[in-house]
Amino acid sequence: MKIDSISSWLPNFNSSEPLVIAGPCSAESIEQMLTTAHAFKNIPAVKIFRSGIWKPRTRPNNFEGLGEIALPWLAEVKKQTGLLTTTEVATAKHVELCLKHGVDILWIGARTTANPFSVQEIADALKGVDIPVMIKNPINADLQLWIGAIERINNAGINKIIAIHRGFSVADKLEFRNDPLWRIPMELKVKFPELPLICDPSHITGDRELIQKVCQKAMDLNMDGLIIETHPTPDTAWSDAAQQVTPDRLKTILSQLSLKTEYCSDADFGAQLNVLRNQIDRLDNELLHTLKLRKDVVEKIAKAKIEQKITALQRNRFDQLMKERMDAGKSLGLDELFIKEIFDAIHDQSVKLQTDLFERSKK
Ligand code: PEP
Ligand code: MN
Repeated sequence: MKIDSISSWLPNFNSSEPLVIAGPCSAESIEQMLTTAHAFKNIPAVKIFRSGIWKPRTRPNNFEGLGEIALPWLAEVKKQTGLLTTTEVATAKHVELCLKHGVDILWIGARTTANPFSVQEIADALKGVDIPVMIKNPINADLQLWIGAIERINNAGINKIIAIHRGFSVADKLEFRNDPLWRIPMELKVKFPELPLICDPSHITGDRELIQKVCQKAMDLNMDGLIIETHPTPDTAWSDAAQQVTPDRLKTILSQLSLKTEYCSDADFGAQLNVLRNQIDRLDNELLHTLKLRKDVVEKIAKAKIEQKITALQRNRFDQLMKERMDAGKSLGLDELFIKEIFDAIHDQSVKLQTDLFERSKK
């Protein structure tokens, strides 16, 4: 995949700082857009103005965006402030209208990324066009679907691509509106190191009080930027009111970020990091040896169960084991959910080993 760096196409972008995209969830009026955009003069990190014009809503009869009449307002924002503009497109018609009205950057929303037919329709409409496209992750936690959408747009000849991590819709919602599942964007980054990746803390959190900490996490994970919904009076917003921040608040959030670099040239620090990494390597090897010893014991148990003709799984034993492991982990200061996930995986493997041996013992 050939991908251009952001600095190759965004003239005033300094790659040692995060790219910041801000603006309201939805375009509501020209005054609302201009008021927001002019407030960004005060926040030089903001390089791109966002605003939804066609809004994908989960249920009908909600505000679905003002549509085409709002496109000239984006052009006015650009004219008055010099900010580049971006909006969401979901169909070939949206693409055509954005190109007609000089929108600078397009984005594909999470619901659209999940549908290869729609992504292909957009890709076909973009053939022969040179415009940056941002691609949000699909709503479901499927990295392949996200990669597929990026490839479809790239195959249409678009090299100016940014991936946006906006979290995933999951059954057990914990802290956030959309679960960040950080492992997925990190895997994308490892697979495509050239692909710029930015974070959308607004749609991850659904709550303006949590935006700061998600921004910081994104920076700590070396993401390239942030897209933050910003509205002059968030509580009155026509969509996503709870997650939008005022321009003042945006300024504070950005000023409180602690920025890090991926590497550092200090030799002492390098040596110190190596010592610690060697410790990690040794501990990981010990973990692997322990897992091998555990596997040997599981096989002995399986053989004993086969002789006694008892089932591979004893429900009581599993419940008791899990409770003990979680209590022990907790008293060691380990994260409970993490311990649960590890022991679920270990136990699944143990049941699999036993049932495989049961199966073989019949032959
Ligand atoms: C948006 O950015 O306003 C939006 C609708 O986002 P998503 O596709 O992430 O839900
Ligand atoms: Mn929104």
